[in-house]
Amino acid sequence: MPTTDQYAVFGHPIGHSKSPAIHRAFADATQQRLTYRAIEAPLEGFTDALHAFRREGGCGCNVTVPFKGDACSAADWLDPDAALAGAVNTLRWDESGRLLGFNTDGKGLLRDLQQNLSVELAGRRVLMVGAGGAAAGVIGPLLQAQPEELVVVNRTHQRAESLVEKFSAIADGRLKTAPLQTPGLGYDLVVNATSAGLTGEMPTLPDGLFGADGWAYDLVYADAPTAFLRWAAAAGASHRHDGLGMLVEQAAEAFFIWRGIRPETALIISGLRP
Ligand code: NAP
Repeated sequence: MPTTDQYAVFGHPIGHSKSPAIHRAFADATQQRLTYRAIEAPLEGFTDALHAFRREGGCGCNVTVPFKGDACSAADWLDPDAALAGAVNTLRWDESGRLLGFNTDGKGLLRDLQQNLSVELAGRRVLMVGAGGAAAGVIGPLLQAQPEELVVVNRTHQRAESLVEKFSAIADGRLKTAPLQTPGLGYDLVVNATSAGLTGEMPTLPDGLFGADGWAYDLVYADAPTAFLRWAAAAGASHRHDGLGMLVEQAAEAFFIWRGIRPETALIISGLRP
């Protein structure tokens, strides 16, 4: 039997993942003895791969595209963020063998925005572009930061409407949707939660989105400025950041769930920059 606690990230594809490097760095920094590897599960085989990992001694794992919904279904218990989002990015087996599901994306985004970048969210106007799994994961925590309003727009408008409806019970009237072509003007923060940047594209957005001293935040991260961040510079955003900080912060939250220790993140974020 292995004596070292085992963790992993499941995805398809998964070769590009920075999660193994991040969690190994966390383990070194906190002197935790563990292994962490990337597992590419077959598209129709997440649950089988997860059970095989458990039989081999797995203690917990991260889950990324396209398995966050499968992970949600596999869990015996969900934390409130995961239950609302219908998506799980972190799993852990407890002492009795129950599989616990969490979504740490929203906490990761909030920690990067508020603690690393000192973005003020309370009373501010926020626009989110995108209504997929990542958007669902971050809406709840964003609302908890008490923005004046959070407007969601998406290429497929119906998907944005469904998301707004799903969160309406906790939104206190502050969560709205609008057409992608007319999302409103003068936002304090515009979050790109689409996957368009993965292929170097960006959603078509009008001018005037950014207010004075406006922030642009792209969940996608890359070694060079993403298409959205290049557009935001031309559109007058004063501050522009990609999602590398969120990636490390959501990982730190997962590490805390597994190990009960919160690793320092600043050096790891800067170490991952080219
Ligand atoms: P998803 O569920 O597949 O949703 C994709 C979203 O992007 C949908 O809203 C989709 O619109 C939109 N979209 C895709 N291509 C587009 C295009 N060319 N023009 C306009 N809209 C487009 O993906 P997801 O899980 O939400 O992930 C979104 C992104 O967030 C991914 O790039 C992922 O890597 C990133 N992410 C980053 C972190 C981090 O820690 N930094 C964490 C989670 C996710 P439709 O509904 O119209 O298809």
